[in-house]
Amino acid sequence: MKADIVTIFPDFFRGPLDHGITRRATEMGLVKIEVHDLRQFTHDKHRSVDDRPFGGGEGMVLKPEPIFECLEQMQLAPREQRLAGTVKESVVVLSAQGQRFTQKIASELASLDRIVLICGRYEGVDERVSEFLADRELSIGDYVLSGGELGAAVIIEAVTRLLPGAVGNEASTRQESFTADVSGGETDGPDSTCGSGGLLDYPHYTRPAEFRGMTVPEVLINGNHQEIRRWRREQALKKTLRNRPDLMEGIELRKEDRKIMERIRSSS
Ligand code: SAM
Repeated sequence: MKADIVTIFPDFFRGPLDHGITRRATEMGLVKIEVHDLRQFTHDKHRSVDDRPFGGGEGMVLKPEPIFECLEQMQLAPREQRLAGTVKESVVVLSAQGQRFTQKIASELASLDRIVLICGRYEGVDERVSEFLADRELSIGDYVLSGGELGAAVIIEAVTRLLPGAVGNEASTRQESFTADVSGGETDGPDSTCGSGGLLDYPHYTRPAEFRGMTVPEVLINGNHQEIRRWRREQALKKTLRNRPDLMEGIELRKEDRKIMERIRSSS
């Protein structure tokens, strides 16, 4: 996959993408990340990338021309083809007003050959970029950041770890929080425990089994795979109910889940 980042702060990306799985995936050639400096696409002596908003109001707005020129030199497929899904490319504007970025969107993007991430700054980006150049607007959450760079790094990291081969143990990305993959069936061993099925992940523990008087749940030590799997499923359900009850709506409960839910309800 190729990931292009369009930004007025190219140095921002020295660091965040140079570690862990993103770095490994880059070194393995699974992803090629290119950072484009918007100021390279200006033609005035001040290299202006922003201007005052029409109609008045606070702050400055990123101008359309450098962004259009930057994308033109990328030689992407025409926007109609991208929107129709006949090519595997997507141009994204980072925006607090965008559709909320989720694990589902991460996996949609991970199936593409190329993603372009346009980072806004100041009061935002001239709307014509969203209307005529980009394919979608994505937000990384309901809060306002000063720029799209952190969002671009978040998206690249979430997408990269879904690329086949990026994470050593691929099953682990199928079992993570929010992941709707239900391939971990009820009879699997403990390592393919749940397939989160959209739930939050279950709690993880490692050695030592006892630390400052805090002990690891007995069930994880006794080696009974069925019990471990059931315990993990119950913990995932409890955590989802406690921290993100909104996620329960989209979850297809298994027969054993309904029993667990009844138990949780009757004990609370
Ligand atoms: N005036 C905008 C508003 O109220 O929605 C906020 C602009 S913000 C200060 C500047 C830039 O930061 C945006 O153009 C966008 O690229 C980025 N940004 C801010 N919050 C974001 C979020 N939650 N998700 C993604 N990008 C965000």
